[in-house]
Amino acid sequence: MKKKRTTDRYTLADLENWRKAARDVKPPIRLGVFGDPVAHSLSPQMQNAALKHCKIDKQYVRFHIRAAELASALALISKMDFIGINLTLPHKIAAAGLVDELDENARRVGAVNAIKIDRPSSGSGVASSGKLRGFNTDGRGFSRAIREEFSVDLRDLRIMILGAGGAARAIALQCAKENCERLVVANRTPDKAQELADELRDFFAGPKVLGPVARLQAIPLEESSIRFQIAHVDLMVNATSIGLNRSDASPIPARLLAPHVMVYDTIYSAERTPLVSAAMEAGARAANGLSMLLYQGALAFEIWFQQEAPIEVMRKALGGSGSPNTI
Ligand code: NDP
Repeated sequence: MKKKRTTDRYTLADLENWRKAARDVKPPIRLGVFGDPVAHSLSPQMQNAALKHCKIDKQYVRFHIRAAELASALALISKMDFIGINLTLPHKIAAAGLVDELDENARRVGAVNAIKIDRPSSGSGVASSGKLRGFNTDGRGFSRAIREEFSVDLRDLRIMILGAGGAARAIALQCAKENCERLVVANRTPDKAQELADELRDFFAGPKVLGPVARLQAIPLEESSIRFQIAHVDLMVNATSIGLNRSDASPIPARLLAPHVMVYDTIYSAERTPLVSAAMEAGARAANGLSMLLYQGALAFEIWFQQEAPIEVMRKALGGSGSPNTI
């Protein structure tokens, strides 16, 4: 029989006619990423390399699913013999309200980036409805990325996070759980930064720091506020979407950065994102978000298959040569 190839991306209509859409596709599609847009996602190349290396005869594909289609798409997936799904923009927060079960971390973050579908026994074709279990691996992926890029642990750092959306929430919770020295959340909408800081207040009750500044602070994403904080920060993390477009300026101009600050941009669409370029100009060490993408994906693989992810194979599939990729 002639092998049928996968298409670039599947849609809700394909899920509704899955027998036809996925007929004869080899290896069979059992994993994927839902997003809108989704064409840019690097997860298929990374996860398929891992599947192949581990001799798991299954395939991971892209699904272009719009916000209004998420509930239907998840309901369909739960009835098919899928193993798991990743969620990217704009689905992470909505998915938290649609899964059957949330692990403790995903519940606190309020966002899901990986779903595992549990069913009593896996059959073929249309199976009985499975249970959707939601996880969030962004925070732990971030922590591993920082250790790799800068050879430091979050607990030893004074950290400033730019942003208060889904990624920022996952990163901030991880910093709090690992008892970082200090955390500053800076956001365009200051109320959201304050809300996030308030949620994390219990983690920072202990007497750790140090100097004239508070251990936990929310500030507006404005030059004057950031200028004041920079002397009291070791790691600056961009978790806003500024930098996704090639024409974006850096969220922080080079004149506000300093050589002592390590800079991590969660954006990975370019090796030198606008923030990474600004950091270099300021003489600071910097890395883009490819390592976080790698580790959040490896953690999702481990949730799905209960076996260690082949990190170096996945890194190579992302185009990484060695570790770390700090510039
Ligand atoms: P959200 O939409 O949840 O949050 C976006 C954040 O960016 C908000 O804090 C928002 O501020 C801020 N923002 C957006 N536009 C502007 C602007 N023009 N000026 C100032 N602030 C702005 O997105 P996510 O948290 O899901 O994603 C954020 C980034 O993290 C993305 O770039 C994504 O690529 C990256 N990411 C990387 C991962 C990796 O593995 N490397 C994993 C997950 C995410 P406000 O609250 O004021 O609207």
